[in-house]
Amino acid sequence: MKYALLDRGDRLSRELSEQFQTQAKARGLIYDEEAPDTVVSIGGDGTMLQAFHRYKELLDRVAFIGIHTGHLGFYADWQKNELVELLDLMASSEPRNIHYPLLHVDIVTTEGKETHLVLNEFTLKSGDGTLVSAIHINDEPFEMFRGDGIVISTPTGSTGYNKSLGGAVIHPSLEALQIAEIASINNRVYRTLGSSVILPKHHHCDIVPPDPGEELIIGVDHMLMALTGVRSITCRVAEKKVTFARYRPFTFWNRVREAFIGSV
Ligand code: NAD
Repeated sequence: MKYALLDRGDRLSRELSEQFQTQAKARGLIYDEEAPDTVVSIGGDGTMLQAFHRYKELLDRVAFIGIHTGHLGFYADWQKNELVELLDLMASSEPRNIHYPLLHVDIVTTEGKETHLVLNEFTLKSGDGTLVSAIHINDEPFEMFRGDGIVISTPTGSTGYNKSLGGAVIHPSLEALQIAEIASINNRVYRTLGSSVILPKHHHCDIVPPDPGEELIIGVDHMLMALTGVRSITCRVAEKKVTFARYRPFTFWNRVREAFIGSV
């Protein structure tokens, strides 16, 4: 097995990273930053988001594993005291690979087109207060949004920002995207559905700001960027999926319960 490793950069994550590499070497695992087949993230969900974006060009051949250094993360399901167990399993057995849907975003600007692949969510806000945008679903006008912003999430991202906005938690076996509103203003001119909307694969939504001159703030997972000249933004379920290597079962609903509810 050839693995790459990305840690959060704090002292504990760096120490665990060193321990991992020493013990991995002793088990014959090869460190290969450029062409790994397994990517290990040590830190939290934010570290996994970074690892995903670092290795998203290799999605067809890599599987991700997350080790958390604090409380349980959604993408990091091994604890810091379980390094030996994980390394033994990595050295001796084949994992069950599970595949989760991603979001594909095309942004057409006055300069051209840029594309983003998203693990958690894409967010859109105005750089100057209230966001105004037309939303079309499958090329038909759906609503005129006015408010703080829009969050479009993947099923695994549905437990992140989306959940804080009252969006539904979606099981990642459903290939879908979810549009959630951030504080929409509703009156006779600007009217939105008011609840989040879930689109299946092969449907798409377009967000069309009325003035391409306006500065917009776009968020792709943990990264924020300012953009002007935006003509339209199209979101759909991506063709590619992300793969996570599971060396022991930990179901999505158990993950949700442990993160948000605790013992029942
Ligand atoms: P951060 O350090 O502010 O992390 C925010 C929290 O979100 C962390 O506790 C993290 O564990 C959790 N989180 C991340 N992905 C999750 C997921 N898929 N399901 C459940 N919890 C998840 O920021 P970061 O580490 O850079 O992570 C960026 C993420 O933070 C974004 O992708 C977004 O999902 C989340 N976020 C949430 C809010 C909110 O809930 N109001 C606002 C902004 C961003």
